[in-house]
Amino acid sequence: MALLQIAEPGQTTAPHQHRLAVGIDLGTTHSLVATVRSGRPAILADENGVLLLPSVVHYQLTGNDDNLTPQTVVGHKALDVAVSDPTNTLISVKRFMGRSKNDIKFDHPYELIGQADEMPAFMTAQGRKTPIEVSADILKTLRIRAEKALGGELIGAVITVPAYFDEAQRQATREAAQHAGINVLRLLNEPTAAAIAYGLDHIDHESNEERIQVIYDFGGGTFDVSVLRLSKGVFEVLATGGHTALGGDDIDRLIVAWFNEQTGQANSSPAEQQALLKAARQAKEALSTQENVTVTINEKPLTLSVTTFEELVKPLIDRTLAVCKRVLRDAKRKVSDVDAVVLVGGSTRIPAIQRSVEELFQRTPLSTLDPDQVVALGAAISADQLVGNGKDGALLLDVTPLSLGLETMGGLVERLIPRNSPIPIVRQQEFTTYKDGQTAMLIHVLQGERETVEHNRSLGRFELRGIPPMMAGAARIMVSFQIDADGLLSVSARETTTGIQSDIVIKPSYGLSHIDAERFLTESFKNAQEDKDLRNLLEAKVEVERELMALEQAIIQDQDLLTQEERDSLHVSIAILKDALNTDQLANIQAATVQLKTHSDGFAAMRMNRSVSKALKGTSLTDWR
Ligand code: ADP
Ligand code: MG
Repeated sequence: MALLQIAEPGQTTAPHQHRLAVGIDLGTTHSLVATVRSGRPAILADENGVLLLPSVVHYQLTGNDDNLTPQTVVGHKALDVAVSDPTNTLISVKRFMGRSKNDIKFDHPYELIGQADEMPAFMTAQGRKTPIEVSADILKTLRIRAEKALGGELIGAVITVPAYFDEAQRQATREAAQHAGINVLRLLNEPTAAAIAYGLDHIDHESNEERIQVIYDFGGGTFDVSVLRLSKGVFEVLATGGHTALGGDDIDRLIVAWFNEQTGQANSSPAEQQALLKAARQAKEALSTQENVTVTINEKPLTLSVTTFEELVKPLIDRTLAVCKRVLRDAKRKVSDVDAVVLVGGSTRIPAIQRSVEELFQRTPLSTLDPDQVVALGAAISADQLVGNGKDGALLLDVTPLSLGLETMGGLVERLIPRNSPIPIVRQQEFTTYKDGQTAMLIHVLQGERETVEHNRSLGRFELRGIPPMMAGAARIMVSFQIDADGLLSVSARETTTGIQSDIVIKPSYGLSHIDAERFLTESFKNAQEDKDLRNLLEAKVEVERELMALEQAIIQDQDLLTQEERDSLHVSIAILKDALNTDQLANIQAATVQLKTHSDGFAAMRMNRSVSKALKGTSLTDWR
């Protein structure tokens, strides 16, 4: 067996019945949809045979003044009017997904409306359009394309997102899919999708080996590098980094600057600027396969050689290599640990980039698949596995980046799901009441690695009410944590004798951004010993407090068994123990407990005798024969 595999219940397919599932790369500049047909993933084309859909939407109104109808155009046709109608043509909306107005620090030509702490909307000819709605229009176009090509309704899609996307950005993507009428099978990290496309998930699951994979993604507007670790069929993003404003577009601008230098022209109108950028891009792309390219600018022919081009882009490539080194260091790995390097993104067609990456990692990067398509192809494979079209309904697992647990007495955290557990997962544990007659319980769900509540992140809380009054410790409350394949966490609590139940669904199951997750982890390692001591102390306090409570109740119940003197010395010892509890010193508490026991043990023995004789009173002689 190659992978840790789980068949989804009820999803084993009848033979010959193929479920229509697709993978979608919802990119910043381009989007793609792919599916697995006859066991092979392939990109689905539009009616003109074009594969890449520019992630651009144009919102316009057509008709005359009395009869205006909204017209929404997606893709190449929208891109064509981007220069003439910039405010109604929405480009690169992925950068706005799940971001508040406060977060948006980059340049853009749009009028944003909304509160500073909300996801803003764009003001267009058709009125407000949120980034989610714009993304939904792109996704809908891809859904319709897929349904036409496949001749049926889709069961669902795997949609890829950058590894660094936080929960808000992921949630925004899910909502966009919902608007587009797409059932999201799961969101998949883009680098993981790229690794799957190259079959890097197929390693021997039985062995304990880990595989380290570097995904170098140099696109149009962004650069991302991720270090993945594959172990026992589970992918984990060890580290990720990049630049949100470093991409092929920057190379185009460098070439335009070179043009201007050659022609001695500096200032050009926005339209001329666009034309220059377009020429630069064509020249750049040509130079990936030829030695020279000649461009005519202002009737002046200019010849750009690969050598000159490579000199121009060297500083840019060097910046990406510096990020690679840093991310590898963050992942605590060396170049020699890396088992595979994958190239993603159109800009990795540039031979100088391929050479530089090869030199850095001392190995030939994988580049046989089209770098524009890799992510979508991997998503399609994952979708196919999820709906059970694969040979054995295999499902590639993801993991929880941080532990999940709940608050117990003393402000401690009991972990139910440890970090790096493969999802989906269900874990149950029994809990009980602390006090006699307790009828309610507060379930406080936490995420993190530290021992105490205050050092973890609170994800939510709910109450279980209607527990029948019983002795402390008699009630049985089964708490279960469940994370589905999409990372949604649900927690439920059930009192087993009466069956009363209460639950909560928590959206941010992976909750924290990667940076936060890392911080939580490093803090937990740093404070491990301190945390352990604190845990011991808090546990001891809870135990002692419970014993004290029981003892005080017993003194009231069976006070006739005690002389005044015995009662007094018990009360003194109790007071000493209470003081000791307040010192928060484990040694003090232990000493005072021993001291109290010398007084209370005799009392306990007398109580025991009394209850035994009480029990015997009701029995008749015949019972003993
Ligand atoms: P994104 O992931 O940001 O949507 P892509 O992966 O689609 O971007 O990459 C687009 C970039 O790749 C553009 O800058 C484009 O000019 C560049 N590109 C595409 N083909 C080539 C090529 N043959 N040589 C050099 N650059 C290319
Ligand atoms: Mg991309």
